[in-house]
Amino acid sequence: MPDLDVIIIGAGVAGLTCGCLLAQKGLKVLIVEKNQKVGGCCSSFEKEGFSFDLSVQSLGECQEGGRIWNLIKKLDLHDPIRFIHLEPAREYHFPDQKIVQSSQLETHIENLSKLFSNEREGIAQVYEVLRKIFDEFSQIPSNLNWFDPSSFSSQYPFLSKYKDKTFGQLLNEHLSHPFLKTILSIRCSYGLLPPEEVSVAGMAGIEMSYFNHGVSCVEGRVEELPLKMGTAFEKMNGKIFQEKEVEKIIMEDRRAIGIRLKDGQEFTGKVIVSNIDAQRTFFTLLGEDQIPSGFRSKLKGMKPSLSYFILYLGINGGLEELSVSNNEVFSDDQLSEEYRALYENRIPNGAPFYLLAPSRVNPSHAPEGKSTLCLSMKAPYHFSRGWDQKMIDDLSQYLILKASVLVPDLNKRILVRAEATPKTIEKWTGNFQGAAYGWAQIPGQSGILRLQRATPIPNLFLTGHWTSPGGGITAVVASGELTAEAIWSKFERGEF
Ligand SMILES: Cc1cc2nc3c(=O)[nH]c(=O)nc-3n(C[C@H](O)[C@H](O)[C@H](O)COP(=O)(O)OP(=O)(O)OC[C@H]3O[C@@H](n4cnc5c(N)ncnc54)[C@H](O)[C@@H]3O)c2cc1C
Repeated sequence: MPDLDVIIIGAGVAGLTCGCLLAQKGLKVLIVEKNQKVGGCCSSFEKEGFSFDLSVQSLGECQEGGRIWNLIKKLDLHDPIRFIHLEPAREYHFPDQKIVQSSQLETHIENLSKLFSNEREGIAQVYEVLRKIFDEFSQIPSNLNWFDPSSFSSQYPFLSKYKDKTFGQLLNEHLSHPFLKTILSIRCSYGLLPPEEVSVAGMAGIEMSYFNHGVSCVEGRVEELPLKMGTAFEKMNGKIFQEKEVEKIIMEDRRAIGIRLKDGQEFTGKVIVSNIDAQRTFFTLLGEDQIPSGFRSKLKGMKPSLSYFILYLGINGGLEELSVSNNEVFSDDQLSEEYRALYENRIPNGAPFYLLAPSRVNPSHAPEGKSTLCLSMKAPYHFSRGWDQKMIDDLSQYLILKASVLVPDLNKRILVRAEATPKTIEKWTGNFQGAAYGWAQIPGQSGILRLQRATPIPNLFLTGHWTSPGGGITAVVASGELTAEAIWSKFERGEF
């Protein structure tokens, strides 16, 4: 008899979601995590009295009826986890204009329609396509692994029609004003892709998971969400190993039968779930000889998302000068230029950046009379100038200088600083080259074409941002739920 029903490799939000839901069904579940705490990308850290969230700044679907709200209700976590609704969601600062984005879709469409009155219909049509795709995608059953293209196109007409299209193509079909297209394209950067590369399906997930039940942040530190999920999991008799790295998935008769840890311990399970980097799962933990050649070549040809350089600052004084906590600052409206440089492993002059002021909404992040800031920009892993301390200092100075336009005298106010490069993110999460959102959301890797949760190994499943639907906390919660549903239905049918 195997030691466990289910072994989950990695305690990211997806692994925890999947683990909690299966433990709630009464299965014997073990989650193995290499770090000293659970949460993966969704973690926080402390420095000299300041508290910083490593990466995640805002979440979708946390208000009543949203996916995350429903999950924490199901796990009975509403008391310990609370959310702060962000309205407006963010501000975009262009050299001559500021655009305020609402977290309510109808308000957002109305605001844009007032600015571009000739394009009212086109704006509504773009969001209607995104909404339809998002709704269709949410209806796909968890066990869909392969599909019959003819019945698929009648059941999911929008997903079918836009399967190969980019968001840039959708914008060109419905809109004409270049600056309006730029505004609608800003959130493509949440897939770390320009509009002419990000898929319509990818953008539907990025946009609608935010507009569906608003934009929120966790009250306190963002890691409260995974930490409390971990506690709930243990209360349901789930077991978590922390600071234990899985180095091998053990195979027998072409089935995954267990895991081996770096310290040599072995555990067997009826089902193995990987919440970690997909290439590492298949090429390192399994071994190339264990996977069918077609699947192997598919994996080798896939493109991961880009990563970030992040500067965390603890500063003196409040941040009354900012009207919202989430800001994005642009030197011009040529969003695609930035990617040309990033693909050549450079960060361009005048690169746009995010300016987040977490303590503005979460005062507990900073001591009395002080504040936190998080400045970040897209960054290549193989930076042509290398990620040495001199480079990190130069980029930090660039961000501080640029941010001073919104936060005067910033340089003089800094008390504490810390930085994260793509290499830091890779080290912490194990994600290939620090990829922030798993595979890039390009047409061939999005929607129904994204890597499936079921794999060619019958009892090995994936969950998290390397599989469907993709990156972001709401999406990986969906992924964890769908993986759990697919596994549970097999247990119910007596297949394990
Ligand atoms: C800088 C940045 C900013 C972001 N901002 C946002 C945001 O504002 N909003 C949003 O919704 N999303 C955001 N995201 C994306 C979001 O954080 C991720 O898509 C999501 O957290 C991924 O969750 P996951 O469960 O798939 O995996 P991960 O969080 O990657 O977790 C994987 C876990 O597996 C563990 N692991 C790896 N290898 C092993 C091994 N061999 N053995 C055991 N354990 C292992 C890792 O330590 C990790 O804990 C951001 C991401 C980044 C990097």
